[in-house]
Amino acid sequence: MNCLPCDQKYAIHYLRWMQTRIENLKGLATLRLNDSENDFLAGESMDNWTVIENAFIEMNSGTISDFGSMTKCPSNNAGFKIIDGTGRFAMPAFIDSHTHLVYSNDRSEEFQMRMKGHSYKEIADSGGGILNSSKLMKTSDESELLELLLQRLEKARENGTTAVEIKSGYGLTLETESKMLRVIQKAKSLVPQKLWSTFLGAHALPESFKGNHDAYVKEVCQKMLPFLVDNGLLDFVDIFCEKNYFTPAHLDQLSEAANKFSIPLKAHVNQFSSSGGLQAAIRNEAWSVDHLEFMTDKDHLDLQNAFKSKSSIKKPIPVALPGCSLFLDIPYTEGRKIIDANLPLAIASDCNPGSAPSSNLSLCWSLACHKMKLTPKEGLAALTSNAAYAVGAEKIMGNISVGMQANLILTKPISGIAFMPYAFGENNIERTFIAGR
Ligand SMILES: [Zn+2]
Repeated sequence: MNCLPCDQKYAIHYLRWMQTRIENLKGLATLRLNDSENDFLAGESMDNWTVIENAFIEMNSGTISDFGSMTKCPSNNAGFKIIDGTGRFAMPAFIDSHTHLVYSNDRSEEFQMRMKGHSYKEIADSGGGILNSSKLMKTSDESELLELLLQRLEKARENGTTAVEIKSGYGLTLETESKMLRVIQKAKSLVPQKLWSTFLGAHALPESFKGNHDAYVKEVCQKMLPFLVDNGLLDFVDIFCEKNYFTPAHLDQLSEAANKFSIPLKAHVNQFSSSGGLQAAIRNEAWSVDHLEFMTDKDHLDLQNAFKSKSSIKKPIPVALPGCSLFLDIPYTEGRKIIDANLPLAIASDCNPGSAPSSNLSLCWSLACHKMKLTPKEGLAALTSNAAYAVGAEKIMGNISVGMQANLILTKPISGIAFMPYAFGENNIERTFIAGR
């Protein structure tokens, strides 16, 4: 594959290291971490942010080396690039733990159909939806897909996103799923963001397996998964567990197959109905349970019980996708209820061409506050520290803390952190730093 222009553009830009100090910040948001045994923030602790006024932060060799009040700011500027942060705030950068960023054309045609009154299911039944993206994926050129992905990641970076999980799932054959995952693999070496690749072969049933979900899941587990693992193309597996798509039994089979290779599971569950997907994900020790727009009281209880065990196994952190709720006009995940039950919550964009065509996590932050009734600080925890937990990166990113990767957002001049979700639809991010650059 030949993609020299973007190789150069993205690689050269991030070659040099430098020591950087931002001074005179109006405020710097950092999480007060308790001595709790958990690596996520649950319940009230999601609000545990300290905003240090009149602050500085220092970044050295890609990590945060110092921060605090300007009264303690070192005076030695030798070797440092100094940035004036007057009127601005620094906060941990966003981590997007759930996206579908590899696709060719957008689906704005279907958007028009929906605006004329057709349902998501009607559009899918008429050859639209995921199968439409799948058809396009078969004929898409790999280098074009890569260039489109790089453009989307650049846009996400401008919006403060410094780490991104990206799913396959528009291929639905070994050949095209491999193509999607190779595109993500290639992007990993070209962009400054940390990327994770997720095999979502069980996203929809391909036409060639019409009426036979069991046979397709067998193909996913026995043929596709081993090949993709052999080629080092995935970090996670995922499944769309939903009525008319894949069942809890299919989730069990996928998890069993992934376990053989020690690949962690994520799951799309309870998006349109409560059909046992959540319980299947919990019993299979999924790292995250994503969507959760339709939850019965029993679902909420089962999720709470999953967090009661003291064992050190990874807990299935709930991930809400408010951009999808906005776009499809479906209920929002009951974030307030989940946090009030002393659980953690993460938020991701779900950016994809069919149901959430935006990677703007500032907007998701606004939706989390306006529609899910989170406080601005809870929303920030859901987009940073808890999002890191959803992809197993909580030890290295998601907070402003000495030794963590220097991934942070420098805002434009604003009145306070709450202004970010308050001013919905605006981009108040002036710069995004990734590993101090
Ligand atoms: Zn999704």
